[in-house]
Amino acid sequence: MIEADVLVVGAGPAGATAALNLAPLRRVVVVHRPAASARIGESLAPAARRLLAAMGLWDDFSAQGHAPCHANRAVWGGPVAFETDFLRDPDGHGWHLDRAGFEVWLVSAAVDRGAAFHAVAGIDSVRRESGRWIVQAGSLVVSAGFVIEAGGRAAPFARRLGIGHRADDRLVCAWIRGAMARPDAGLTFIESEVGGWWYTAPLPGARRVLAYHTDSDLLDAPMGHVPTGVASVLDGCGFSAGGEMAVVPANSRRLAMGVAMVGWRRGMRR
Ligand SMILES: Cc1cc2nc3c(=O)[nH]c(=O)nc-3n(C[C@H](O)[C@H](O)[C@H](O)COP(=O)(O)OP(=O)(O)OC[C@H]3O[C@@H](n4cnc5c(N)ncnc54)[C@H](O)[C@@H]3O)c2cc1C
Repeated sequence: MIEADVLVVGAGPAGATAALNLAPLRRVVVVHRPAASARIGESLAPAARRLLAAMGLWDDFSAQGHAPCHANRAVWGGPVAFETDFLRDPDGHGWHLDRAGFEVWLVSAAVDRGAAFHAVAGIDSVRRESGRWIVQAGSLVVSAGFVIEAGGRAAPFARRLGIGHRADDRLVCAWIRGAMARPDAGLTFIESEVGGWWYTAPLPGARRVLAYHTDSDLLDAPMGHVPTGVASVLDGCGFSAGGEMAVVPANSRRLAMGVAMVGWRRGMRR
């Protein structure tokens, strides 16, 4: 059995960040399930600069040469495009990242600071024993004083405690990556239409992502139709779709903590 002060479940941005901040102070163990497929989400907001600086990561991050994101342009509910540029943002511009590479870098920073990472297939069981958490994941057993749930929407630790979730909406995202023949201005572009909204942004390596967001029950209907604003951005950079693609949940979810925690605490007192 591995003894830890803190067990972090999940190694996405939240888990890796928690681990790298705690590792200099406490014994930190991270268990995570490696991603089965590529993930979308490559735009990093300007305010991340402050967080990266506070965590002592800014110099390393800025030396990696991520592509700048200069503005968000949106055509939303009418024909006129609105732009939020980052010229007057006190944090400066944002970035278009290689997300997988960014997450690997955060994990390596946590490892450098002393956190131990273990890839697992999932969380098999969770129990309390003498005031500590005993978490089993395959052949790995960790005893920890604290557990941080950073398992994203899967919430694997909370689920093992019997805590369900509530979905606030039915949003899903269908996305595809592809190549750009010409350089792009470094903008994130969003355009709404009757059934949902489109998103496109450049990626490192002359690539681009195109995504369509809608409710799960409307997904089939309008996929063939790209609205005029998005179409002109794609034409302008000579976008050709090809490569990774997926349809993923993008709805807001939260743990149904109230009822579940009361029931769980009652169970613990027995
Ligand atoms: C369509 C879409 C587009 C997005 N675009 C952006 C964007 O451009 N910019 C942006 O900043 N944010 C974006 N987001 C939001 C962003 O992806 C999330 O805020 C972020 O991933 C949350 O990080 P996290 O570490 O909490 O969870 P996650 O990144 O989901 O990480 C969860 C971790 O838990 C692990 N895990 C899962 N199940 C288990 C299990 N059973 N056992 C052990 N480990 C497990 C996973 O392997 C992973 O390591 C987007 C989200 C969606 C849905």
